[in-house]
Amino acid sequence: SMASSEKEAALAAVPSDSPTIFDKIINKEIPSTVVFEDDKVLAFRDISPQAPTHILIIPKVKDGLSGLSKAEERHTEILGHLLYTAKLIAEQEGLDDGFRIVINDGPSGCQSVYHLHVHLLGGRQMNWPPG
Ligand code: 5GP
Repeated sequence: SMASSEKEAALAAVPSDSPTIFDKIINKEIPSTVVFEDDKVLAFRDISPQAPTHILIIPKVKDGLSGLSKAEERHTEILGHLLYTAKLIAEQEGLDDGFRIVINDGPSGCQSVYHLHVHLLGGRQMNWPPG
């Protein structure tokens, strides 16, 4: 299933500070459907959507943020900006009834791309606990 292949990708991914496919998306070397962009962040639709709205919000400059577990004090401004941007996009997407924010971290968190990203999911009823 998609869920298990996502998990396999996450378990196969090697945590590192090297460039990822998201750098190519930022540089427009590979196409994506951008829904929001400013000087600090880029938001685009997930290639494998898990909900009617599934958007990834990423910092344009990685600055060591391969994942949230690598965050340092200097990152607090961009971290806040990513979350505030998620809220703006939720409005833009008409998710008036609610939405979910996810940040996967590390192998146990099922992270597969080592460039910090915030998932914005909405447009269907979510369940708890997540898988
Ligand atoms: P993670 O599992 O690391 O939290 O999330 C990575 C996400 O990136 C996955 O949901 C995956 O579908 C998405 N993704 C991976 N490669 C690409 C790509 O080339 N383009 C887009 N738009 N999304 C991607």
